[in-house]
Amino acid sequence: MKERTEKGAGEPQRETHRSECGEQPQGSCGLNRRGFLGVMGAVSGTALLASTAPVHAYKKFEGWPDRYGMLSDLTACVGCRSCERACNEANGLPKPEKSFEDGSVFSKLRRTDEKTYTVVNRYENPKDPEMPIYRKVQCMHCNEPACATACPIHAYSKTPEGAVTYDPDKCFGCRYCMVACPFGIPTYDYESAFQPRIYKCVLCYDRLKVGQIPACAQACPMEAITFGKRSDLLRLAHERILEHPDRYIDHVYGEKEAGGTSWLYLSSVPFGELGFPTNLPDRPLVEETKGFLSSVPVVFAVWPALFGMIYASVQHRDALQTELKEQQEKEEERQ
Ligand code: SF4
Ligand code: SF4
Ligand code: SF4
Repeated sequence: MKERTEKGAGEPQRETHRSECGEQPQGSCGLNRRGFLGVMGAVSGTALLASTAPVHAYKKFEGWPDRYGMLSDLTACVGCRSCERACNEANGLPKPEKSFEDGSVFSKLRRTDEKTYTVVNRYENPKDPEMPIYRKVQCMHCNEPACATACPIHAYSKTPEGAVTYDPDKCFGCRYCMVACPFGIPTYDYESAFQPRIYKCVLCYDRLKVGQIPACAQACPMEAITFGKRSDLLRLAHERILEHPDRYIDHVYGEKEAGGTSWLYLSSVPFGELGFPTNLPDRPLVEETKGFLSSVPVVFAVWPALFGMIYASVQHRDALQTELKEQQEKEEERQ
């Protein structure tokens, strides 16, 4: 087994890993980037991608059987931040203050925000101080997302492809989703008080719809991120653990946590040492979220209804204004 060599940010080294298929480059068992494109070509136009009607996860929902996901192998990541750059460009986000080659960002743990849908953080490696571990953070695209459950006006959707998407046109800024998310992912743009907006990774949903893989997976030079059907990724993850018990701990993070997530992780050290929440139940947090909503004081309990009414009245007002304007224009044309 060839281990990665630490070179620091901005200096990725492309090395050959002994994969599950023998001495092929890692991820070459049909789930690598090129392999995936073939798969997507085959399925584009099938019922899966044609059936893009969103489903709100506040109902009892076991998850779409053919949904996609990402497998992040932390033993392969070298912290080059190519995924961060690709995400920034694919989503048209503002350029960061420090360049993507600047390794000083690793001096503190970062979180995602309105300008950054994914970050890579560095952790000490208890097994080898010379080889820090890098962990990519983004929305986990939960099978049954608590954010969607908490949102009173259904601004979130869990799509058949596995992405948890968000509709800014519906959002009125209550931020319940921020409270509900067990991974602390949705962030709010506090500088835009009159245009409430949550920011988070949406699994590059626009790319998925046209048969492209998420930009971060496409960009990773180490193929530390593998895109594919979640069921295939789970199989691949367990195969890797079985074949390389010296390399991985026997745990696929995201397989069961909070009812399961579309992002899955493999690691050489316990996930708690890398900042992953390890106290999550195996069941979805849908019930807990409902419990939270019913236990908050009455002022918060009526908040969704209140804001729902305000939202509806604003929509009604806008429609009336548009109608009046159109009538006015017609009157002016007649004169
Ligand atoms: S990680 Fe948080 S924001 Fe992402 S789908 Fe799960 S609950 Fe929603
Ligand atoms: S899936 Fe797309 S939006 Fe999400 S972290 Fe990767 S590049 Fe960014
Ligand atoms: S996941 Fe890939 S692209 Fe992102 S930092 Fe790690 S090696 Fe670089």
